[in-house]
Amino acid sequence: MTLTALEDVTRLSSRVIRVLAQNPGVGPLQGTNTYVIGTGSRRLLVDTGDNPDQNTSANVKKYHELLQKELGACNAKIDKILLTHWHPDHTGGVEAILQSKHDLVCPGRNLITVSAGVEVMKFNCRRGEDEQLPFTNKYTSTLQDKQTVLTEGATLTVLYTPGHATDHASLLLEEESVLFSGDCILGETSAIVEDLASYMQTLQSYLDLDKPVKKIFPGHGPVVEDGAAKIKEYINHRMKREHHIVDCLKTGPKTLEEILETVYVGLDQKLKLLALKNIEVHLQKLVNEHVVISESDNNLYRIV
Ligand SMILES: [Zn+2]
Repeated sequence: MTLTALEDVTRLSSRVIRVLAQNPGVGPLQGTNTYVIGTGSRRLLVDTGDNPDQNTSANVKKYHELLQKELGACNAKIDKILLTHWHPDHTGGVEAILQSKHDLVCPGRNLITVSAGVEVMKFNCRRGEDEQLPFTNKYTSTLQDKQTVLTEGATLTVLYTPGHATDHASLLLEEESVLFSGDCILGETSAIVEDLASYMQTLQSYLDLDKPVKKIFPGHGPVVEDGAAKIKEYINHRMKREHHIVDCLKTGPKTLEEILETVYVGLDQKLKLLALKNIEVHLQKLVNEHVVISESDNNLYRIV
């Protein structure tokens, strides 16, 4: 699939600037979307791109230059960093931004303009994944579900949205009914799911918000113009797959590979591992719901 080309920097609204973190790849697609939010001299940054160890320093430097240029043009500093989840392509850049390591344009000056005492916010991970965070100071504030985070010109409601990761946060920009979906919903291609039952609840919670979601600004890929339609599409897609798997097992017990062959006909072999993982999370959900039994001694799954 050809990905939509994204500009390095895009002003998405009077309150939101998207800066591409210059880390394209198999996982991050075009790169991680980071967002500068607010209208005043102190702004909030959502996500930070990759660790310099994972990315070339030239790419990290370019990302920092782009951020610096935008902040400079607005005469603004970052005083809050909000991380949607712990994955390295979202949290890896924190340390470098806090320390402004890549000040190569104008030595002696902070390349990334960060306020003193910048706050770094994130939900706690539920399975100890925080130990793997690629920055030493950890985060300074633990997010709470439904918490309001204010920055001049923007009001953000924090939503706890697990499923892709146990610490996943989404944000609702109240003034524009825009959802920052992190990796729960992507601009294109499909999201990777760790726990499908939580993920389905997360998708439904987006639909249950007081005001319908208009646009979605995702963690990767282009803006989703009709957010509510995309959320429903994601739910329907997963439910269809689940029905397909259940139907396939109704004809008799099957191995993971046999289910894959039935459910993903004509699959590109490069995508096989991803597809197997996908079926596994569906089966895990069905096992937890006592719809399917896993017979570990012969690697078979069968309907209860
Ligand atoms: Zn992720």
